[in-house]
Amino acid sequence: MTRTKIIFVSGGVISGIGKGIATSSIALLLKSRGFSVTAIKADPYINVDAGTLNPIEHGEVFVLDDGMECDQDLGNYERFLEQNLNATSYMTTGQIFKSIIDRERALGYEGKTVEFFQHPPEEIIARIYKCARASSAEIVVFEVGGTVGEYQNMLFLEANRLLKLAHPRDVLHVHLTYLPIPSSIGEMKSKPAQMSIHQLASSGIAADFVLARSQVAVDAKRKEKIAIACGLAPDDIISAPDVESIYQVPLNFENQELSDKILKKLFLKPKKTDLSDWKVMVNSTLTAKKSLKIAMVGKYFSTGDFTLSDAYLSVIESIKHAAAQNDVKPKMVWIDSTEIEEKGTKILEGYDGIVVPGGFGARAVEGIIQSIQFAREKKIPYFGLCFGMQLAAIEFARSVCGMEGAHTTEIEPETQYPIIHIMESQIEKLEKQDLGGTMRLGAWDFKAKAGTKFAKAYGKLEGSERHRHRYEFNNDYRDIFEKNGMQIAATTTDGNLVEALELKNHPFFVGVQFHPELKSRPLHPHPLYAAFMKAVAKG
Ligand code: GLN
Repeated sequence: MTRTKIIFVSGGVISGIGKGIATSSIALLLKSRGFSVTAIKADPYINVDAGTLNPIEHGEVFVLDDGMECDQDLGNYERFLEQNLNATSYMTTGQIFKSIIDRERALGYEGKTVEFFQHPPEEIIARIYKCARASSAEIVVFEVGGTVGEYQNMLFLEANRLLKLAHPRDVLHVHLTYLPIPSSIGEMKSKPAQMSIHQLASSGIAADFVLARSQVAVDAKRKEKIAIACGLAPDDIISAPDVESIYQVPLNFENQELSDKILKKLFLKPKKTDLSDWKVMVNSTLTAKKSLKIAMVGKYFSTGDFTLSDAYLSVIESIKHAAAQNDVKPKMVWIDSTEIEEKGTKILEGYDGIVVPGGFGARAVEGIIQSIQFAREKKIPYFGLCFGMQLAAIEFARSVCGMEGAHTTEIEPETQYPIIHIMESQIEKLEKQDLGGTMRLGAWDFKAKAGTKFAKAYGKLEGSERHRHRYEFNNDYRDIFEKNGMQIAATTTDGNLVEALELKNHPFFVGVQFHPELKSRPLHPHPLYAAFMKAVAKG
């Protein structure tokens, strides 16, 4: 058996140029050549996981089946690889130090000095092999968070350097860099890219490939300049221009034979080539013509497409996957619920569907509740995700069941009608401020009620979905909800916790306690998103 091959991916010049998508694309391409592949994201933060990070600042918190709360890039890996990952695919500086300190306290280093520049890289390397074993991967693609030249990610680069020294045939480095086209000059400049390659070299690492991100394709002249800067052949400089859909990226790499080139440098022979399904999917994403407007209602701290597109990445992607399947193009509009509170629900007129994504806290919640009432009464397709289900339940209790002031105890602890409340086990955690990694997290099995749109969407009565929340539907209100036309469409398999609500006599009004977006894949849109988009397309 050959040793595990490891491909490191770093970024230079600026952040936010698509290192996660590049990593995912490389992983997908190598998988399409017949190898078992997995990916790792290494975040340079001291945070132990992403669960305590603010999504508006850091991007969405993605959750794996095993409950690991991780960086949004893990979502990209899963979507491109069509594979469920596990906690070994995510590491942070915090995790690395935590295990080293725990081991030191247990005398695990047997009296030796624990060194800053020796033991963390060793721990990182051990974790890489652990991840490869956990997923039986022949190739691991390892994304180094941050950009080269920062102190923060040096330990990960040092792990790369040591691994390359030990196993020169099994390790390579792909550097993603950026070539700006300043408007005052109107010409693509390669100097920052050359500098980032030099930065990388000063960590003792020579890039084997350079992915050259820019607005447009990089021409032969620049490729040559970059190639000279890092001692590579111009063929190893891969052009990575802006594209309309992120799912085009692997196809663009493959047009430049990237997988063949990587495999050659890793002394591997391709076993097959298969990207046909991917090409069909990309084509349908790009050719859909009919555009439908979806209102994404929430309490947003800062508007502007950029921040929100990161904070709700999986929701956006899931809608796109389902839209492509229904041959439509979604136009998602972010509506801050404060605006609904100020101007009323009039601004929701003209939308083909309404989504309320996950959320926490009290601000502008009444605006969200008004939007849900609008969707229910005007029979506009509604899809509530986690908080979106909880608030739909509150709206229904108030307007249909006559429970004035009904609420969630997260916002109104003393409410007379605690429609959404907290489980005993969670109360203790809140009191102790034991807040990291303690929500209801990860995959839980559900059973669905036959005959509901929910069950029909899945085409079966059981399944598994991922969670991230503390509060739950209060079972005392199940009967009154059912009597008034809100069905308990799914529960946990033991029947204890409500997993989905669905309104009768409505084109589509479904709220789910879990996050279906964490399991949607471009080649396999999530059944509930697909059913919602179908209802939206029907109009
Ligand atoms: N704030 C709610 C809870 O903790 C919903 C969380 C979410 O939408 N992810 O239960």
